[in-house]
Amino acid sequence: MNFNMIKNLARKNVNNLVPYQSARRLGGKGHIWLNANEFPISVHFELSQKTMNRYPECQPKLMIARYADYANLNSDQILASRGADEAIELIMKTFCEPGKDFILFCPPTYGMYKVSAEIIGINYRIVPTINNWQLNIQSIAENLNHVKVIYICRPNNPTGNLIPLNDIYNLLEITASKVLLVVDEAYIEFCIQSTLVKLLKNHKHLIILRTLSKAFALAGLRCGFILADNKVINLLLKVITPYPVAIPVSDIATQALSKENIILMQNNVKQLNINKVWLFTQLTLCNCVKEVFTSESNYILVRFENSAKVFKYLWNKGIILRDQDKNLGLEKCLRISVGTRQECEHVITALQDL
Ligand SMILES: *Cc1c(COP(=O)(O)O)cnc(C)c1O
Repeated sequence: MNFNMIKNLARKNVNNLVPYQSARRLGGKGHIWLNANEFPISVHFELSQKTMNRYPECQPKLMIARYADYANLNSDQILASRGADEAIELIMKTFCEPGKDFILFCPPTYGMYKVSAEIIGINYRIVPTINNWQLNIQSIAENLNHVKVIYICRPNNPTGNLIPLNDIYNLLEITASKVLLVVDEAYIEFCIQSTLVKLLKNHKHLIILRTLSKAFALAGLRCGFILADNKVINLLLKVITPYPVAIPVSDIATQALSKENIILMQNNVKQLNINKVWLFTQLTLCNCVKEVFTSESNYILVRFENSAKVFKYLWNKGIILRDQDKNLGLEKCLRISVGTRQECEHVITALQDL
């Protein structure tokens, strides 16, 4: 075989795929990274486990127990994965028949729902949001044919808004006993009073996604959690890889979930939310800014008069933001992760020169 023809061996889905444009893949030579919604300060950990000749537990008990404690659930309602990204995919692999079933999501929203469906070969149906990113519940209700899973991001990435609780109740009602509702709470620590964890008890078709990548400042660790009814968890356990949680991952995650470190995280979140208010106010005063959208999360979506110019100007100054211009309904928008106060000040100073 001529090895240049290797593409002929790849699946059609893969040849047609536009891969997820992660912030890391997009690159840039910055000193101020505000494009991946990472936490701006690092927490220091030491490995306590020194030997690794043995395989890890599939679901390390102490880590799971601590997360359960943190989330006010039982251990049998928790599943750990390699980040929420693996969780998104694991749910599709477990519940959707390739080539037959559909997932549904409501753009503009997190890009991995679509990319994962395309890779696995599951159909997707799009019901765009209306009136600045509210769910079109009626259209969702009319489009549930062959849909197995709905993905809702709350607070939503990249817009920062929070779908109202009433819409969630409506969704739970129209999906009951036929469709799974996945609520991605990757950013919930920034508005923790809005978590839907309490609804798990009476809504067995609700699944909540969590991660240590954002508020816990552990994006490099790759650790996420699925919160759901034990029957759902048991099905997912049949499909997950044999050893999804490496020993160093559970070691550090277990430490991050200690009582003291959770309090530390909560204090860091408070400080970041203060920075967010400051950044929001300052952005509204910049001449190049057209509109600033309120955010319940650790990033702010901003519409500029000329976003391409702003993006490039800041990029050249080493301040890396996330361009959302090509995202449905987000023309001329950039997303700015809230950094340290100093980083926020650099952004504003640069924008004032424009
Ligand atoms: C960052 C992010 C994720 C991915 O989290 P990981 O745990 O790092 O894989 C999932 N969902 C949303 C909405 C995110 O923004």
